Amino acid sequence: MNTPLIQLQPSDQYNQDLESNVHPQHWTNPTPTKPYQLVVIGAGTAGLVTAAGAAGLGARVALVERELMGGDCLNVGCVPSKGVIRAARVAAAVRDAEPFGVNVPEGSAVDFGKAMQRMRRLRAEISPNDSAQRFSEMGIDVYFGKGAFIDDSTLGVTASDGSVVELKYKKAVIASGARAAAPPIPGLDSVSYLTNENLFSSTELPKRFGVIGSGPIGSEMAQTFARFGSEVFLFERSEKLLPREDPDAAKVVQKHFEKDGIQMLFGAKDLKVSPAEGGAICVQMVQEGTPREVVVDQLLVAVGRAPNTDSLNLEAVDVKYDRSGVDVDDFLQTSNPRIFAAGDICSQYKFTHAADFQARIVIQNALFAVGPFGKKRASGLTIPWATYTSPEVAHVGLYEHDAKNEGIEIDTYTQHFSDVDRAILEGQQDGFVKVHTRRGTDKIIGATIVAENAGDMISEITLAMTAGLGLSKIGSTIHPYPTQAEAIRKLGDQYSRTRLTAFSKKILDLLRRMNVGN
Ligand SMILES: Cc1cc2nc3c(=O)[nH]c(=O)nc-3n(C[C@H](O)[C@H](O)[C@H](O)COP(=O)(O)OP(=O)(O)OC[C@H]3O[C@@H](n4cnc5c(N)ncnc54)[C@H](O)[C@@H]3O)c2cc1C
Repeated sequence: MNTPLIQLQPSDQYNQDLESNVHPQHWTNPTPTKPYQLVVIGAGTAGLVTAAGAAGLGARVALVERELMGGDCLNVGCVPSKGVIRAARVAAAVRDAEPFGVNVPEGSAVDFGKAMQRMRRLRAEISPNDSAQRFSEMGIDVYFGKGAFIDDSTLGVTASDGSVVELKYKKAVIASGARAAAPPIPGLDSVSYLTNENLFSSTELPKRFGVIGSGPIGSEMAQTFARFGSEVFLFERSEKLLPREDPDAAKVVQKHFEKDGIQMLFGAKDLKVSPAEGGAICVQMVQEGTPREVVVDQLLVAVGRAPNTDSLNLEAVDVKYDRSGVDVDDFLQTSNPRIFAAGDICSQYKFTHAADFQARIVIQNALFAVGPFGKKRASGLTIPWATYTSPEVAHVGLYEHDAKNEGIEIDTYTQHFSDVDRAILEGQQDGFVKVHTRRGTDKIIGATIVAENAGDMISEITLAMTAGLGLSKIGSTIHPYPTQAEAIRKLGDQYSRTRLTAFSKKILDLLRRMNVGN
């Protein structure tokens, strides 16, 4: 019997269904007969896409997973987090229903257990896509066990019963991802805290919920638990929410966090943690030189990710790595030319869609490039990302400070949703679309959107950037009225107005007079 390291709780029908797909209890590992053309270590997004793509194109592939197929995204990341975020949005819609003329009877409340159960049901429903059965039906040899390199052409797979099988390979792909890592906070070991690995196993809503770190994961979960009814304390070392995002975007989200009643403790330095009465947790900090303490019932640590380089025995194959992960070049090749990497293990872009597209590059470069011919570069990818707070923040390309650091002169165009009819009608006027272009041109080099569905809207700009379409093309593209995406089209109009020079105005005047007189 194989035992996954991540324990999914509670052991209800949904989690049993999930496990039977992504780590079947009675799975028998195949017996290798001849060398694999590709072995893939890790069956998260990067590994699954690599294995499926390579097998689909005719390669003999082995896929090795030590825990749960689907990796972080399906089991303890994107899928469960977006599942609970949806429930929290419904709770907020009910809370905010009155101005819409919808009277919600007194006493409406969130049933946390039911919201979590819905998430578990949907996660289980999605899981056949990533299942061991589906991947073996694709002709891939799926092994459960810990993969570790033995030499330049052999990977050992240690199953949970201790048995080891040796896989011979021509090329290998490291897709072992990253996991939550405890930051050096004194006392953290003395309490039982949450990370993304056990948060989604919760069945009871904490009365007081502490979150360390206001990056994407911390912010998404702080807002979710506040909307569910917890008293939420968000500890952030810097002076603003979502420290890496556009500062104007972070301000809009902060206003909504205030409405959600989240207590944002910015500039929280020298954190210390200790057990408090009744199983609670005391968080001590220094804020603006003043010591302060807050007691919470559950504490989510949402800072620090560590690459899964442990146990791979990378030294045996001369693959260079450091604390941030495996070193790769622009072709996603490691210091060992036969070994590639994709996803969180090697990328600064720790997103599912980035892992997916890096995997496609690895398939091409590992299996179909001949010498320097046919190789694809990771730097050629335009990677957007989104944080699923309400409102969402989505971004692609350069931020203003990136452009400054790189010495690129820019023009910035901003369209606020307070001037977009659909946003007004939806009651979602807070937010904007901000686009940076190369100075004096309509070439888009970066954009940030703050809107309820910014994650969906950013794709229009990403497509424009990828296809080399400028703002004026967007401005001349008909968008249905009324939609929030019209905000993007309006930026095209803004750009066009800047092109209206004194000379072109004179020509227009002349043409008008020729047609309709003075
Ligand atoms: C709470 C949370 C929410 C997120 N939300 C989003 C989101 O909304 N959108 C988004 O794009 N991204 C999101 N992410 C990030 C996303 O989950 C990751 O970027 C993505 O999972 C990376 O995929 P991967 O294949 O590189 O790694 P992983 O998903 O981590 O998969 C790696 C796999 O390798 C296995 N493995 C490791 N070592 C070994 C070994 N020695 N032998 C065998 N197997 C091994 C692991 O068990 C794991 O299954 C979120 C992450 C978290 C934590």
